[in-house]
Order: sequence, then C-alpha cells, then structure tokens
Amino acid sequence: MSSRAVLTSKAPQLRRCFSSTRGANADFTHAVSARRLPCPRCVARAVVQSPRIKTGSIDSTQVIGAGVVGLAVARQLAVHEGTSTILLERHDAPGTETSSRNSEVIHAGLYYPATSLKTSLCIRGRNMLYETCAKYGIPHRNTKKWIVAQTAAQWEACLRVHKHAQALGDAPTRLVGQDEARRREPDVKADAGIVESETTGIVDSHSLMTYLQGEFEDRDGDCAFKTRVTDIQRVPDGYQITAVSDEDGSETSITAETLINSAGHGACAINNLLLPPDRHRVPHYAKGTYFSYAAAALHLRPDMGGRIRFGPDIEWVDDPSDLQPSPARLEKALPEIKAYLPGVDLSAIALDYCGIRPKLGRGGAVNQGTGFQDFVIQEEEGFPGFVNLLGIESPGLTSSLAIGEMVDGILYR
Ligand SMILES: Cc1cc2nc3c(=O)[nH]c(=O)nc-3n(C[C@H](O)[C@H](O)[C@H](O)COP(=O)(O)OP(=O)(O)OC[C@H]3O[C@@H](n4cnc5c(N)ncnc54)[C@H](O)[C@@H]3O)c2cc1C
Repeated sequence: MSSRAVLTSKAPQLRRCFSSTRGANADFTHAVSARRLPCPRCVARAVVQSPRIKTGSIDSTQVIGAGVVGLAVARQLAVHEGTSTILLERHDAPGTETSSRNSEVIHAGLYYPATSLKTSLCIRGRNMLYETCAKYGIPHRNTKKWIVAQTAAQWEACLRVHKHAQALGDAPTRLVGQDEARRREPDVKADAGIVESETTGIVDSHSLMTYLQGEFEDRDGDCAFKTRVTDIQRVPDGYQITAVSDEDGSETSITAETLINSAGHGACAINNLLLPPDRHRVPHYAKGTYFSYAAAALHLRPDMGGRIRFGPDIEWVDDPSDLQPSPARLEKALPEIKAYLPGVDLSAIALDYCGIRPKLGRGGAVNQGTGFQDFVIQEEEGFPGFVNLLGIESPGLTSSLAIGEMVDGILYR
C-alpha cells in the first residue's frame, strides 16, 4: 500500500502530498524549502509516521533516476543516520529504461584500460554483486564466457585480452584447448582458439532492482515516482529542485543539501540545468539490437529467463526513445552468428528488443576502440554536494553496487 509523503508545491495554494512507496515513513518535511510552509495536515502525518524526524537537523539527499545505478546509490546513502534520502523517478516504476534493456551479464572487467573507473568499478562491483546475489537469493549464475577466434588476427586480439586480464590480477582468464572445447560446447566453431573468462556470469536485473528498492525503503528511503525533474537552482543551503508530477502536471519545489544525478539518458540534461554553459554535455546514443533463438537443437546456455539471445550490435541513433528493432540489423547479424555457430537454424532467429547505451561521445566503450570513454563520477567543482554520474553505459549494471559505494565515499570521505 502506498503512503503519502510530504512535499510542498511551488505555489502555496497548490501544496499537495506526493505518492510515496511506503506506509512507514513519510518525513519529507526536512526537504521543504525554508521559504515555503509545508501543508500542516501533511506535517502532522509525517511527525506521527516518522519517529526520527528532527526539525532542521536532517541532511537531505535527492537522487535523480531510479535505474539500477540510482537505486544502488540511494540504498547506500540511506544507511547514514540522521539523513533522509529521496529517489525521484519520472516513470511510475523503477528500472524501466536502460536498466531493463541490457544483456544482464555480470562482466569480468577484461576490456577496459587498467586504470579506468570501468575496470575498477566493474571488478569491485562484480565481486559485490556475486556476494549480494548469493546472500539474498537474487537469481544469478557464474556461467563463464568464451571469447572465440576464427582467424589469426582475431586470436592475436584474444591473446591481448588474456594478457591484459592476467595483469589486472582479479579477472582470471584461461586458454581452452580444442579437445576441451569439443567436449564442453560441440556446437561452437573456434578455429583459431578460445579464451575463457572465469568470472563472467548473468543476473536477473529485475530481481536485483526489486531487492535494491526494498533495502532502500527498509533504510527509510522514499521513492517519488511519476516525478520529472525540470529545473535545478543553486541556493544557499543546497539545491532547489523543481519537479513536475506526470500524474496531474502539478509542480513541486524541494531543497536538498546533496543531489545525485543518476538520470541515465537524462543525465546530460540534468547536468546542463545546473552547470554553466561551458560545462554542458551533449548526449550520444548507441542503440543495440538483440535477436532471439527459438530452436532447441543447439546446446546453448539460456539466459536467466530460459531464453537464448544473440547481440547486441551497435548503431548510432539521434533519439533515446528509438527502441524499434529493425529487420536490416537482423540481416547483418545472421552471417556473424553463423561464423561461430555453424549448426544454427537461421530461420529460428528473430528480432527481439533494443537497448540504448548512454554515451558521452562516439568513442569506444572498450580498450581496443579509439577514444575510449570512461564513466564520469564526480562531485562537480564549485557545486558542493552535487555528484554527477554521466556516461553510465556497460558495465553499469555490473558496477552498480560499487558505484553506490564510490558515491558514498565522495560524500562521506
Ligand atoms: C544494449 C545494452 C546492453 C548492456 N549490457 C550490459 C551488461 O550485460 N552488463 C552490464 O553490466 N551493463 C550492461 N549495460 C549497461 C547497463 O544497462 C547500464 O549501465 C545501467 O542500466 C545504467 O543504469 P542507470 O541507473 O544509470 O540508468 P537508467 O536505467 O537509464 O536509469 C535512469 C533513470 O533516470 C530517470 N530519469 C531521467 N531523467 C529524469 C528526470 N529529469 N527526472 C526524473 N527521472 C529521470 C529515467 O526515467 C530512468 O529510469 C548495457 C546497456 C545497453 C544499452
């Protein structure tokens, strides 16, 4: 059952209660701008419902975006006593954008430069994820992964990955011989060789997000869904955030000491609302299409939902809502799939779904690509308490728990 959490509207006569996710805690009064009086009815309820309310003494944090990363950050920050954390999300549920349109792979961290955030957060996040999934019964599996080569040039690239992984220390890989390969995966063609990543796996991302939301709320955090952030102003005691309700169009103003931008495809727009023009960011969108496989003849390992999938590929698009799969992508993918699975029934491969990677440029996401683009996770200079999370593409799902830990370290170091 949902409770009503208190936020004041910009215009005093429009003061209203916001829907929140829990009945137990609704102390949004600390987040109310000092210049506006909260609705007395709502304050009375908040005081009754929240024994920890201490007027004027609670530090408030707003996290924008309830994808897997925003959820992990909010859950981590909510652990601090004497603080209050609110997660603002424009949709009516968590994880409905990129976090539900990915491969659900727990990446090993093999592909990024050794000193990058992508490497350190992926390795740390992967270890935290396996531990958390095992502890709380979140469906996952350490499947391992094969990187296969058909040509000498591909094998050279595989060996570079293997060497890089050995140097990283906590991303074990090994070479798989032809006999072992034939025994374990007889359908896979790998003429030049195979490198196996031992720590790669898969996770049910929806179960993970349900767990993160539950823990966040157990720690007295509040989710405000259908709440779209439209403006942010710097004020003496923090940041004044204006949000519009996607339910009734009403506008709400909230002041918070700490603000985390975890808005995925909306993160550059949030950045640009607050930072000066010379620090504005331009978002780029790299669409990936998946292909489903409906025949059972091959011994392929299904995903957590029991389905077999290929992809994603990469295609630059101008619009983050361009999620329609295109038949042209399927035509292009078929020969590539056939190259390593010669026995595949091509007629059983169909277009499935798309996801779009939030990119900060058209450079590569991995070591081999030109113009490697790392995650940007930083408290912005001149904006104390404002932490930006930009370009959180893959391996963002794997890294989510470690990103939560890192943001916590930035704010509470
Ligand atoms: C094709 C593809 C495959 C991938 N595969 C993997 C993989 O196998 N393994 C892996 O580790 N990673 C993978 N990733 C990356 C991973 O999915 C993302 O890094 C991760 O989901 C990002 O989570 P997020 O919370 O940052 O963003 P999102 O899930 O996009 O969440 C951001 C949220 O912010 C909200 N929002 C935006 N603007 C506003 C606003 N103004 N007001 C309020 N709310 C707002 C949005 O509605 C959204 O819910 C893949 C990504 C793609 C696209």
